[in-house]
Amino acid sequence: MESRKIVEESEQFLATTTRDLPLVLDRGEGVWLYDVDGNKYLDFTSGIGVNNLGWPSHPEVIRVAEAQMNKLAHAMGNDFYNLPQLELAKRLVQLTPGDFPKKVFFSNSGTEAVEASLKLVRQYDPKRKYLIAFLGSFHGRTYGSLSLTASKPVQKYLLGPTLPGVIHVPYPNPFRNPWHIDGYEDPEGLTEAVLEYLESWIFSSLVDPEEVAGIVFEPIQGEGGYVVPPKGFFRKLERVARDNGIALIDDEVQMGMGRTGKMFAIENFDSTPDVITMAKALGGGLYPIGATVFRKELDFKKKGMHSNTFGGNAVACAVGVKTLEIVKELLPKVNEVGKVFRDELSLMKVDDVRGMGLAWGIEFVKGEKKDPDTKTRDKVIEGVFKKGLLVLPAGKSSIRVIPPLIISEEEAKLGLSVLREVVNSLR
Ligand code: PMP
Repeated sequence: MESRKIVEESEQFLATTTRDLPLVLDRGEGVWLYDVDGNKYLDFTSGIGVNNLGWPSHPEVIRVAEAQMNKLAHAMGNDFYNLPQLELAKRLVQLTPGDFPKKVFFSNSGTEAVEASLKLVRQYDPKRKYLIAFLGSFHGRTYGSLSLTASKPVQKYLLGPTLPGVIHVPYPNPFRNPWHIDGYEDPEGLTEAVLEYLESWIFSSLVDPEEVAGIVFEPIQGEGGYVVPPKGFFRKLERVARDNGIALIDDEVQMGMGRTGKMFAIENFDSTPDVITMAKALGGGLYPIGATVFRKELDFKKKGMHSNTFGGNAVACAVGVKTLEIVKELLPKVNEVGKVFRDELSLMKVDDVRGMGLAWGIEFVKGEKKDPDTKTRDKVIEGVFKKGLLVLPAGKSSIRVIPPLIISEEEAKLGLSVLREVVNSLR
């Protein structure tokens, strides 16, 4: 069946979600995707940060998955034990920042990984009922994580009320400094402003810090617009959290697994969280998986406080182990090719370029007040799509540029020249 027909029928049968482009995927090969009509697209989306190893996946990961699939896949990981699950847990404990005893809970998606983190910190000290999250954040769409999410029109009255006790504070966004304190020139000023707001306003008038269970953050905001905070922000946030006995929850669902040139994005900021959530690329593009890695003392106090059916799937975990190995080898290349992206993006007629490794955001604004130029942003996405390049939006007026980590310099330059041509023709 041709693309147009499949799109038409799908609109009748599939729920309304987030589809924009009329793209019907058929197969993928490395950094290339093909639709059912045989059209070829260069991928700068990595399947929303899932296919870090390319499409359909790395050959080694496929080999491991096939071998495990022929032995055991669904394995009741929370009721019984299996070796791939143990192996992946050990690797994650070792690879995540923090030289202290840790444990791992497995699930099937990013939002579930976040849900588990919320339960962990709430049950650890039942007096601590509150959670702090950031404006512009995205942590998922199930009701717990949705309560934290503040980047999309998902918390409107139609869906509420969400979880009580969630307090949002501004994220230190150097391009949109809400305090107008020196902006880019003074990232430390921005960091101080956010922390002062938290300590002097939230903790003195809204909630006692001794009642706060956790601060949940993205090391770089993804869905909110690929926002990179000042270098020292998380170190200072960690001090505030430690002073008040609050757990730090680092959501690496989108930025983890090598995307920023380090295995986990928080490593770029020299800070150590108590809980790390991950999903997406951990499944190598082949299998859904979520993982919550946490300080051992936060472990569930009672059996059955949390569990699920599919977590610890033996194929997903075997794939996870191999994926981590391959990502580790790719890290130097991510930083090398990342420089090509930084340099080329900086030459385009865009209003801001930010990122690291192979996680880049470009933004389009209008006028002195930096009003979001959503129209131009959407035209760019459509324009490059027509020329065979896939990119995704982020925030109100940004585009995320996130190719698979296996991309060659040549492929990078090819896609970037298409992007540049379209961007510059619109401005
Ligand atoms: N956290 C972050 C940082 C994410 O980017 C996402 C997904 N975009 C999620 C959580 C939710 O992941 P999932 O869609 O797998 O539930």
